[in-house]
Amino acid sequence: MNIQNVKGTHDVILKEAQAYERIESVMKAIAESYCFKEFRVPVIENSALFLRSVGESSDIVRKEMYTFLDKGGRSLTLRPEFTAGIIRSFVNNKLYATKDLPVKAYYVGPVFRYERPQLGRYRQFNQFGIETIGTTSVYHDVEAILLGYTILTALGLENVKVKINTLGDALSRQNYKNALKEYFSNHIDDMCVDCKQRYELNPLRILDCKVKEDQDIVKNAPTMSNYLSDDAKKRFDDLCALLEQVGVDYEIDDTLVRGLDYYSQTVFEYHYTSKKGINYGAVGAGGHYDGLVKEMDGPQLEGVGLSFGVERVFSVLNDDELLADVDDGCDVFVMPMGEDANEIGFYLLTTLRQYGFTSEIDVSGSKLSSMLKKANRLSSKYAIILGEEEINTRILTIKDLFKQEQYKINVDNLIDFLDSRLNNAEDEHEHCSCNDEKEHHCCGHHDETQCCGHESQKHNHGCCGHNHDEEHHCCNKDSNKGE
Ligand code: AMP
Repeated sequence: MNIQNVKGTHDVILKEAQAYERIESVMKAIAESYCFKEFRVPVIENSALFLRSVGESSDIVRKEMYTFLDKGGRSLTLRPEFTAGIIRSFVNNKLYATKDLPVKAYYVGPVFRYERPQLGRYRQFNQFGIETIGTTSVYHDVEAILLGYTILTALGLENVKVKINTLGDALSRQNYKNALKEYFSNHIDDMCVDCKQRYELNPLRILDCKVKEDQDIVKNAPTMSNYLSDDAKKRFDDLCALLEQVGVDYEIDDTLVRGLDYYSQTVFEYHYTSKKGINYGAVGAGGHYDGLVKEMDGPQLEGVGLSFGVERVFSVLNDDELLADVDDGCDVFVMPMGEDANEIGFYLLTTLRQYGFTSEIDVSGSKLSSMLKKANRLSSKYAIILGEEEINTRILTIKDLFKQEQYKINVDNLIDFLDSRLNNAEDEHEHCSCNDEKEHHCCGHHDETQCCGHESQKHNHGCCGHNHDEEHHCCNKDSNKGE
């Protein structure tokens, strides 16, 4: 019986997995540079957590949660988002008692929503996000928006559209909801079933409806800006001014309300249409919240969060061919010629790996030509041929598979040779004026340093990444800095 993956899930394998790894490591590195620390919270939580935080008017709670009873009869839910779990953890671990508020958390992992699978919409997908908990400052809203913008730019996306809006404070929101109820009361009979429920539970959510006919009605609805208190208006003006100051290109979208009930004041989304013209919806989104920590029985603290859908970020990067170089290939492919050479080949392979070279071996005893084909399929940079002669003389035959050149290298110089070729030499040679690899002792050709005509007392030359504790003029590098 052929068992298929569950509807709405997908395998992330091979190059795609490498791409996810690249995307997530860029996200993590940038979050860490903003002093966010990683939080790993459980995938399963008590259902009450999401009922209380995400809100009963949200689509997530109304129809998308994977909720089940465990064998002890407890109602559990696979997390449909991270914020609730992070705030629960913040409260349970009494992090509010720290002197150093706000606490800045980042997270990455799978979330689950029972949605209708379609382009950019899965039932299990991955989110990367941040939460800054314990702040009312608009600077932290700006920091969150800037962080997301920086991540997308660092990944190579240009012309990211940042949409922002304010939902105001509680009073502004209540006044606005009343105005919306009055307006929609004349139209609600013509609107979709979901909107009829939203009308009762939270009329703000009607603004987010994706049904074409409903959107036409929404166009003439009152806008939030007319119901903002002076404080909420000032906060939003400050936000806009600060975003301009830090160079985030934004547009105000007064229908932006977000699908989760806990937001107040600032809300934002990142939109990007790939060069092929495909719009996957928001690749990331977030906002400020003021009641969540208290809702979980913590003190009255506010916060701001941002979350990216990793699948969507992957899709736009993939469409724009920004992930083509994600597979680094293999540094060295060892090719023992025959059974007898396998043992030494395997020993050599192990040594290469210990030195940090990505290495593979073919122990199948195949012909040289088919081993070379395999080496090329793995995008190997070098292939080492290990036949009887090589083993007896300890002089290895090494093929540079990109340049199609062949070298004879004493096994004792192998690591230095590879190190100079793969780790540093190419970049460094670009800085050198000599540009002559053959003259370059790091490749085993010369004992004296010849590159650029400068002399170094050391045989091991800094530009090759070898020990070198003096400033190296030919490469303009200060070796003391470890370069
Ligand atoms: P949300 O938690 O609803 O604010 O969503 C944050 C981000 O998660 C969105 O901007 C999307 O990029 C992503 N996302 C939301 N729902 C899905 C889904 N069903 N499949 C894939 N990505 C999603």
